[in-house]
Amino acid sequence: MSNAPIIGHYINGQIHDSAERFSDVFNPATGAVQARVALAELKTVDEAVAAAQAAFPAWADQSSLRRARVMFKFKELLDQHHDELAAIICREHGKVFSDAKGEVVRGIEIVEFACGAPSLLKSDYSDNIGGGIDNWNLRQPLGVCAGVTPFNFPVMVPLWMIPMALVTGNCFILKPSERDPSASLLMAQLLKQAGLPDGVFNVVQGDKVAVDALLQHKGIEAISFVGSTPIAEYIHQQGTAHGKRVQALGGAKNHMIVMPDADLDQAADALIGAAYGSAGERCMAISIAVVVGDVGQKLIDKLLPRIDALKVGNGMNADSDMGPLVTAVHKAKVEGYIAQGVQEGAKLIVDGRNFSVPGAEQGFFVGATLFDDVTPEMTIYKEEIFGPVLGIVHVPDFASAVELINAHEFGNGVSCFTSDGGIARAFARNIKVGMVGINVPIPVPMAWHSFGGWKRSLFGDHHAYGEEGLRFYSRYKSVMQRWPDSIAKGAEFSMPTAK
Ligand code: NAD
Repeated sequence: MSNAPIIGHYINGQIHDSAERFSDVFNPATGAVQARVALAELKTVDEAVAAAQAAFPAWADQSSLRRARVMFKFKELLDQHHDELAAIICREHGKVFSDAKGEVVRGIEIVEFACGAPSLLKSDYSDNIGGGIDNWNLRQPLGVCAGVTPFNFPVMVPLWMIPMALVTGNCFILKPSERDPSASLLMAQLLKQAGLPDGVFNVVQGDKVAVDALLQHKGIEAISFVGSTPIAEYIHQQGTAHGKRVQALGGAKNHMIVMPDADLDQAADALIGAAYGSAGERCMAISIAVVVGDVGQKLIDKLLPRIDALKVGNGMNADSDMGPLVTAVHKAKVEGYIAQGVQEGAKLIVDGRNFSVPGAEQGFFVGATLFDDVTPEMTIYKEEIFGPVLGIVHVPDFASAVELINAHEFGNGVSCFTSDGGIARAFARNIKVGMVGINVPIPVPMAWHSFGGWKRSLFGDHHAYGEEGLRFYSRYKSVMQRWPDSIAKGAEFSMPTAK
């Protein structure tokens, strides 16, 4: 395997591909190793931080309009390289090409939002609050920020962070997932072509060693993390212990309530896409259908032919609906959950284990899987499976559905299919989840809103991108000013108040 191409780091505008350790990067559709990614040690992280620190003063001093112009150009280049980025995602992640193209679009939308930086960073000004004093506020950059991202959106999730961090005047170090690291390097090249000065954006490839070095580095001011909950919790704990601002988005177990008055064809279509799209490897995937009253069997009757019609295969084939899982290890984990579901008494209606795609027998495929009679005590209900596994839980009424969802430890996304406005309103107001869909299965907020869950799906105070992202990546400063001719003589000893 030593002649597999090496995926390196990107520091100060240059690729660095020497390393002491490497990790294999697979093509999940064939099971073959297609490259090896360098894994950074502390020294490489130090180099990246030093490059970013050196670039920071000049970048922070640029006008917000100049920074936005780099984003305009970057957006144009992302459009030009849209198919290339999608093909890289397909090759390393395994998702289908049309889905990968959609991922790139959702990332570009954050770049488009960031193009409005001059207006977004405009401050408030209070003229003459008293005694010839004016008061205004500034939003200033933090310094060098880092982002640690998951495998399941190798373009979109880095783009939740990069444009927001850069337009606010920060320098940024991305540590992408070691399972699909190539897209980060193409984005680095495009940023350079867009006119971003060297050192402002850097990529450090790696694993826990690199992440720990970033967490502990004195030169890093803030860390954005997206990944599984145990690691998100660790990042938040370690990052804050080292004095950093941290936003750490974690895992999920997203429910979809199907009310008796819902259009069951629409609900079934939504469930098929949301449970099995991207082979269930989405933090907003629906993995539990909560069926209310007598909906259960009627919904199953709608789901079964749709599952039967699903085309599973290499994501690069135009007719595939669903690709493989990311690695053999992950496939084994998902199949292990299916076995546990059976053991714990759930009714396995469709079994996706031992699934083989003709001509791609070594690919990491798991077929669509459906469980009925899932209960809240079961592991397949409690834990995030992150595969194409949908479980059905039966509840007697809407109040029980809300109670069930609110008791779950995760609170990322949720959906309710109904045609009753009163139910929809009560659902939106009472559900303890960060992103809510009403007849929308995957309610990922637009770029100018913000993304984030509640409970153990997010650690930290800010959601990602949108205005929350701008706040995360900037420090608020209030300035008061007056000029000598308005200053009264003598010291004042009482608390100053507006006069
Ligand atoms: P992961 O937690 O295994 O890895 C995420 C990142 O953390 C990677 O860059 C990885 O290299 C690094 N990492 C892994 N182990 C580490 C350790 N012990 N110490 C320090 N760093 C470590 O997640 P993943 O498997 O890449 O992605 C899937 C997970 O991400 C799912 O749980 C999914 O729900 C979650 N996710 C959440 C959101 C969200 O917005 N809430 C979005 C996408 C994915």
